[in-house]
Amino acid sequence: MQYRFKNARILTMEEGRQIFKGEVWVSDDKISFVGTDSEAEQRLSEISCSWDREIDCAGDLIMPGFKDAHTHSAMTLMRSRADDLPLDEWLNKQIFPVEAHMTGEDCYHLTRLAVLEYLTSGITAIFEMYLTPETIAAACRDTGMRCVQTGCYNSFMQSAELVEDMYNKLNSPEDPLNTYILGFHAEYTSSPEVIDKMAALAHKYQAPVYTHLAETAAETKGCVERYGMSPVKYLSSRGIFDYGGGGYHMVHVSEDDMEIIKEKGLYVVTNPGSNSKLASGIAPISDYMKHDIPVAIGTDGPASNNALDMFREMFLVTALGKLREEDASAIDAMEVLKMATVNGARSMGLEDCDCLAEGKQADMIRIDLHQPNMQPINNIAKNIVYSGSKQNVKMTMIRGVIRYEDGVFNIGDDPENIYRQAELIKERIDKTLV
Ligand SMILES: [Zn+2]
Repeated sequence: MQYRFKNARILTMEEGRQIFKGEVWVSDDKISFVGTDSEAEQRLSEISCSWDREIDCAGDLIMPGFKDAHTHSAMTLMRSRADDLPLDEWLNKQIFPVEAHMTGEDCYHLTRLAVLEYLTSGITAIFEMYLTPETIAAACRDTGMRCVQTGCYNSFMQSAELVEDMYNKLNSPEDPLNTYILGFHAEYTSSPEVIDKMAALAHKYQAPVYTHLAETAAETKGCVERYGMSPVKYLSSRGIFDYGGGGYHMVHVSEDDMEIIKEKGLYVVTNPGSNSKLASGIAPISDYMKHDIPVAIGTDGPASNNALDMFREMFLVTALGKLREEDASAIDAMEVLKMATVNGARSMGLEDCDCLAEGKQADMIRIDLHQPNMQPINNIAKNIVYSGSKQNVKMTMIRGVIRYEDGVFNIGDDPENIYRQAELIKERIDKTLV
């Protein structure tokens, strides 16, 4: 399909480029033009163009889609099922028993449920970690969601063989929506043997590795007791990060850890909603920024958040950062937007989805500015981060296909069917657990 978005405000997220009025053109899966109104006029006088659809944006904003850089989509099943509990009780008594009964087919339907929510939040790519990578990939392929998966291998589930198999299978050019990055669940769930096998894979493929890292004070303390080192230092000492990668959460880190993170070129994926709800702590985002360490943003799974909502995460990144530093100037809105788009894409290996430019993937959203929470238009970036919400997402496009527009989904199934499937899975597992 060929699209022309005209009469738009455009935020490309290219370094140093301000919001301008102009046009974005899409040809199949790619952006074929981004420019001002006069540049568009000039281009039109040089070449002949025809569009399947011309969209008058009426001054709305077109920008890159948000990248949810850490999630466990199929945990939609556990949303609002086990809340207001201490972390260990939540995990061991509520989450693990349910997961023990989840099938690959369950994960397929529950991931599709999550995709509906991602689309309403302007999320065009997810960095996913969960139980059954092949059915999760199928769910994303069928709904049109861009998905980068990583392994949740640990001493109790998955294997190095599965991680390697998925790394080779899901990085096929025939399936452009699905890719796979090496990863394992966490230091505290993984024996030294698991860690060594992952390090061997990192070396074999000269590839980055991701994991849950330094999420809680107890995790960091436990690692020091086990190995005499913080999780960041321990994993680095085993060669896990010799080809880069990063960590999800990264709340409890020392100055020494910061040096290692910087030296290894790691990405920090912060999850402030989950960290707040599970009382894990506030990540030192300002310190990461001072060290020039790139930060991306994730929702974490819907059991621990419970919303897959990037607007809420963006607000929390800056609000908690300001609170932590006791400094209202900490972490400005444009920096947060960069984390939610450019840094997210790069952490996920999606170099061609980071900003709006000719030749990049057409993964973009339209933000409705004709809503009370966006008026008056003093500063659009600040409006998005401080007063914006899902109600402002008018359209979500992935690989040049509009998957959500004006409240209507284009994901190959009726949302009501997906809700019904989730309800059936819930009822079946409830019966098993009684
Ligand atoms: Zn997680």
